[in-house]
This record gives sequence, C-alpha cells and structure tokens, in this order.
Amino acid sequence: MMERRKPITVQEAIEKVMALSYEGATEMVPLEDSDGRHLGVDLKADHDVPPFDRSPYDGFAIKAEDTYEANKDSPIKLEVIEEIGAGTVASKVPEKNEAVRIMTGAPIPEGTNAVIMLELVQEMIEDGKKLIQIKRKVNRGDNLSLRGEDTKEGTVLIQRGSRITPGVKALLATFGYANVPVAVKPEVGIFATGTELLDPEEALEAGKIRNSNSPMIEGQVKSVGAKPIYLGKLDDDFETCFSSVQEALKKVDILITTGGVSVGDYDYLPAIYEKLGATVLFNKVGMRPGSVTTVAEWNGKLLFGLSGNPSACFVGFELFARPILKRALFSKAPYRLQSKGILLTDFPKPNPFTRFVRCRTEEREGRIYVKPTGLDKSGSVTSLAEANAFAVLPGGTRDFKASDLVDLLVLRDEGSEYL
Ligand code: AMP
Ligand code: MG
Repeated sequence: MMERRKPITVQEAIEKVMALSYEGATEMVPLEDSDGRHLGVDLKADHDVPPFDRSPYDGFAIKAEDTYEANKDSPIKLEVIEEIGAGTVASKVPEKNEAVRIMTGAPIPEGTNAVIMLELVQEMIEDGKKLIQIKRKVNRGDNLSLRGEDTKEGTVLIQRGSRITPGVKALLATFGYANVPVAVKPEVGIFATGTELLDPEEALEAGKIRNSNSPMIEGQVKSVGAKPIYLGKLDDDFETCFSSVQEALKKVDILITTGGVSVGDYDYLPAIYEKLGATVLFNKVGMRPGSVTTVAEWNGKLLFGLSGNPSACFVGFELFARPILKRALFSKAPYRLQSKGILLTDFPKPNPFTRFVRCRTEEREGRIYVKPTGLDKSGSVTSLAEANAFAVLPGGTRDFKASDLVDLLVLRDEGSEYL
C-alpha cells in the first residue's frame, strides 16, 4: 500500500531543521584568503583609530594663537622649523611664531594645535629662513584628525558571523589580523540520483536529460559560504544508492541528495533513511514546489532529500538547507530577506499549499513589482536563471490577481544597468 504522508507547514519544517544541534567551528586563515568567509569572532577595536592626532591635509602645524591678529591687511609670518611626512614624528617643539610643515597622515607635533592648509599660506625665504605668511585667523583644533575620531578602543565594529567584505578586510588589517578567525566552511556532499541523468558534456539520448541539479546545488552551497563536495550521480538502484550514501556519511556531516525522494517505484531515498535508521524530521511540506522535500538526521549528520524537479530542488535548498548552513557559519541573519511586491500577473489557480513562485522584481517609482520568470511548474529549469525572489503565495482558495501585494523572499542583491 502506498504510504500516506502528512504535510507540515513550511514554518514548522524550517523550525524542525533549525532545532537540530548542528553547530559551526572556527579556524584561522591568512587575511588575504579571508574574502567571503564568515567572521569567527566579534571584531573589536583594540586601539583608537586613528591611534594619534594627525593631519588630514598637507599644510603647516601651527599654534592657533599666533594667528589671532592675522587678517588680509596685516598678515603674520611664522618660521618653518621642520618638515615631517606621514610615519615621522617631529623632533622639535615649536615656540611662539614657529610652525612645522606637515604632510597628510603625520602626527600633530607637540606644542601645535591646528593645521593650516598649504593652499592658504604664502611661502617665502627671508634672511635664509623659511617663512609662511598667513592672512587669516586659524582656530584651535582646525584641521586636526583627532585620535579615536574614527572609532574608540573597545568598540565592537563587526559582529561574529558577518561576511568578510573588502571593507571588513580593511578593518581586520587595521587591527592587526594577519590571520583571521573564520567559521569553518561546512562540507556539503552532493549526490544526484536518477538513471536518466547525463553529465553536461554528454550528448542527449532517448529518455535522458542532463543533470542540472548538482551544479545548481554546488552554486547554492558556495553562495551560502559553505563547501560543496560533488560525489557524483547514482542510478536508481537501491543497493548502489544505499552503499553510496553510507560511504558518504563517513566523510561529510551534511549530505544533499536530489531526486528519488517521492513515492515512485524507483524512489529509494525513503527506504535508505529507514535502513540507515535515520530520524526523518519530515517528508512532506505544504508547499509548491518541493512538497516531497525530506530532511533526516543520522548520528548528528544531516540528510537533505531534495526533489529531483529542478525548481523544487532549488526551493528546497533555499528554505531548509541554507538557514542551518548560515547558522553554522555563525550568521545572525540566516534567513532570506523578506519584502513585499506588487504582482504583475494573475495567479488564478488556487492551491492548498503555499507557493514559492520564482520571480524577478523590478522597481519603478519606489515600488517593487514582481513577475514570474517562467513556467510555474516544479519541473521547470528555465524559471531559475532570472529569478531574484520568490513570491510567497499562501495556500488557500484565494486567487491572486495582478496588482495584489504579495510577500517576497529576496534571493540576491542586484546591480543596476543605469549610472
Ligand atoms: P525525482 O524527484 O527523482 O522523481 O525526479 C523528478 C523529476 O526531476 C524527473 O523528471 C527527473 O528526471 C528530474 N530530475 C531528477 N534529477 C535531476 C537532476 N539532477 N537534474 C535535472 N533534472 C532532474
Ligand atoms: Mg528520480
């Protein structure tokens, strides 16, 4: 007799996955290899930035008081007693009416309290002495870049789990992280099941299709920040699939299989979970596509049985695998961003399950509009390439009409073609 599966809601299913105790670990990598990794610790300023008062301009460090009487008609003159560049500390302390020529980034000399920009003075030599003439009053503190003005010692600047961007790398370098503690990339094994599957380089033959799920899942795993390990494709044969899954679980903590998870004669994953003695968290979710998505746990290892249908496979990964991988990478934001958009097309067909329609968003006059990117079927592969969001249409009997406001899950950041 065919097994009857009881669907749980998407929310319940995600909560069940997130209740698993799969956690991440930390390792050190050289700063230059840290791009895109997730920080393993809070990044805290261990000193003030800048660490000393410095000049933001090329100019002259002066005592502001010397200029208080200066104006266009009666300029004052200061003697330049020294010149310092960035990285050099002044060796003299200026007396009254003395100045130090200073370059951007050089520390403000002791005894001075303002900088006047190069463009605002006139340089001259009188009696073999270097002088500057100033025609305006300069205030104390003018043009100083003060110690700690950028950040103060002890400030937490970037939280653990944040992705390392070029800007974060700049901070890591600022605080001396030649080596960076980062989250270890979870290794995710990937099997494609299906006797009909060909490799991309193979020519099509009767009844066969190319395996598109594995490269797609590899891409999704990489975009999360984890490490995909493609283990190959498996024919629909119980013994082969079982021993391959068993072997794979010796090497990886997370195993994603695509296909064979439904109730067809050659869908062996359910029997594999049973023979392994794995705990099946759910094997039916109230969603379209991907209702057969199954998640199981065995000895602390996670098994994601995604549908073979490309759209269903994609959605299954996004909803259930992505968040727990993100959490293992210490991310404080493991879920996709939610938004709202205005439908540009009707969705007349009611469905008892929540639908995740692969969509593309466009913004016009501050409003987000959304339209499907292709055939709204779980077997569709072409709807995936252009999709940058899922329109989330809750189950029920209601029709959705163009101009309805719907929930969105945003899949990625986009650039603009306009300047
Ligand atoms: P299954 O989940 O195994 O019942 O497969 C459902 C549908 O997805 C079938 O039409 C399969 O041929 C197709 N399919 C399964 N695996 C893949 C794959 N790796 N790439 C592309 N299509 C697939
Ligand atoms: Mg199959």
